Formats: sequence, structure tokens, C-alpha cells
Amino acid sequence: MKEDYYDILGISKGASTAEIKKAYRKMAIKYHPDKNPGDTEAEEKFKKSAEAYEVLSNEDKRARYDRFGHQAFEGAGGGGGFGGMDMDDIFSQFGDIFGGGFSGGGGFSGFGGGFGGGQRRAKGSNLRIRVSLTLEEIANGAEKKIKVKRKVQAPGTTYKTCTTCKGTGQVTRVTNTILGRMQTASPCTVCSGSGQIIDQRPPEADAHGLVQKEETVSIKIPSGVEDGMQLKVSGKGNDAPGNGIPGDLLVAIEEKEHHSLQREGDNLHYDLYISLSEAVLGSSREIDTVTGKVRIKVEEGVQSGKILRLRGKGIGNLNGYGKGDLLVHVNVWTPKNLSKEQRDFFENMADDENFQPNPEKSDKSFFEKVKDMFS
Ligand SMILES: [Zn+2]
Repeated sequence: MKEDYYDILGISKGASTAEIKKAYRKMAIKYHPDKNPGDTEAEEKFKKSAEAYEVLSNEDKRARYDRFGHQAFEGAGGGGGFGGMDMDDIFSQFGDIFGGGFSGGGGFSGFGGGFGGGQRRAKGSNLRIRVSLTLEEIANGAEKKIKVKRKVQAPGTTYKTCTTCKGTGQVTRVTNTILGRMQTASPCTVCSGSGQIIDQRPPEADAHGLVQKEETVSIKIPSGVEDGMQLKVSGKGNDAPGNGIPGDLLVAIEEKEHHSLQREGDNLHYDLYISLSEAVLGSSREIDTVTGKVRIKVEEGVQSGKILRLRGKGIGNLNGYGKGDLLVHVNVWTPKNLSKEQRDFFENMADDENFQPNPEKSDKSFFEKVKDMFS
């Protein structure tokens, strides 16, 4: 009996896309093979949660799974559909979850290079930076120019064939066992498997023939990124020695707080405070949006708690599914410290039918409206 996908991720059947993503991100970090070397139970959990995410993150697959359970993916297609995600599949899925920062890179050599033997190109180390973004930049996407100190190959560095492995990148060892002679190959430690070592280097270069250089890197930030996400700029990490490939620049996203807008996924919320007279007589007010100020109309007789929805004035979806909305919450400000005349006015009105709350004549209740909005 296969375990339920929702149970694997520890979420309820009605979980939102964001909740599924969040739950999987947590699992992936907890059970990542790099964090749990040799722990087969963790690896199993890692694979299971990847499989669960693969299905539940896809609207179509999820609907089929909700209807038919695991049977939805058995039979047709051969091989029983799911259950056979390999590590490459899982790491490629990470682009979606972590913005690409986890795929490839030096850290996971156990799955990328390393196996299969032969010469391999050394990879330069990754660089990490943080980028702090305003809500406006997140909503609309942005291009940031950031100064980065990278290690680059020093001009004048020359290479020669590694004498230890004779350029093959690996050393073979023959051992005698009861099963006969066994030949094992492992990467050459002298040249890190690249087959080449430094011949000459300029005095300012380090042992790997690298020097530090400040470079301006242009980073394209897609709209809809979230605090804590990581973007990858390929090849903008440190250079590798020899004919290796440069590492990556990993950009951690930080979201600055906005003074008047609150974010909820792709939607934004704005608290609008209006005076009692504005509520009674109606008004026109300027509010903040992520594309500048806009003027909105407040109908006369508006009730406190009303939510005005400005479609498409939210945040551009990270996966390209349109834009969220801006929800303007109307709050009527009840005055305090009234003058004698004002107090008299309200006392006169105390018994007036027009001043009595009448839920039947008003719009839907606040809770019903919120339910409508998010259903
Ligand atoms: Zn070597």
C-alpha cells in the first residue's frame, strides 16, 4: 500500500499551492542527501516527498490523484508511472522550489560528476550574495546591478598535463581479493580530476592561478519572488583552475517591508481609513499601489469592513500565471472628543431609523465576503 501523498508532505487535502510548496521545501531541506550522507531512510523520505510534490504541484495530476488515488498513475505508460523519480529529476524540480539555487553546483558532486570515472572538468566554487528588494521591485520584476568580488583566472597562467594521472584525471588501483583482481578508479587528487596542473603563474595569483576581481553582475529578478528564495546566475561564481567551469552566483532574496501594503502570496492588502462623513457622503481617495498611486471611489453609505478589489494590481506571478489583486479594506474612523454641537447632533440622531444598524440592508457580512474572495 503506497503512502498518501498528502500525509507524506504533512498537509491537508485542501492545501493551497503555496502550502504544498512550503511543505515540500521543508522536507527537501530536512532530508537532503547532502545533509544525511549514507542515511537510506532519509533518502527514501527525500524521494517520496519529491514524488508527492511532483503530483500535487500539478493541477491536472492532483485532480486525477484526488479522484483515483495512486491508481491514477498505474497501468498506462508502462513502468507504473510514478515511483521511479531519479535524483536528476528531483534536483531539476528544485529550480521551481528554490529558484534554481540547488540544482547542479559543487555541493552535490555525488550525483553529478564523480561517478562514471574519466576526466571531469573541475567546477569553481559558488558565491553567495543577498539582494534586498522593495515590494515594487518584487511585484514588477527588476534588474539589479550588483558588484561582486569573483576569483578569475589570472592572465599569464599556463597549464601542463598532470604527471600523477598522466592527464586522465583518475588513478586506478588494483587490489587482490578472494573474487580475483579488482580494479578501482578514483579521481586524481593532485589535479582534482581535471588532468591538468599549473605550470606557471604570475606572482599575484593564488595556488590555483586565480586572482580576485570586482565585477558588476546584472541580475534579472523575475516578478513574484519571495523572501528566502534563491536565484542562480550560472557561471558568475569563482572561476575554476585549468579548463574547469566557473561556479555559480547564488542570490538570496530579501523582501523589504512596505509602509502601507501587505503581501499575501500574489495578492496585496491595503488598509484604507475614511472619516465618518466620508463614509456617509462618499469620497474619492488616493492609495498606494506597486505601480504608483491610484485614485479610487468610495461609494456613499459604504460600510466599515467592505473590501474593494482592484484586479491585476497585485504581484506578477512567479510562474507567469497573471497578476494578483489589490484588496482595499475600508475602515470607518469613529470620531472621539466631539464638540458640544457634534454631540448634540448625534444625540438627536440616536433614535433615527437611518442611524440604526440594519444587516439585512447592508452587503454581505465581512466573513462571507472574505470566504467568497478566497474560495
Ligand atoms: Zn591528475
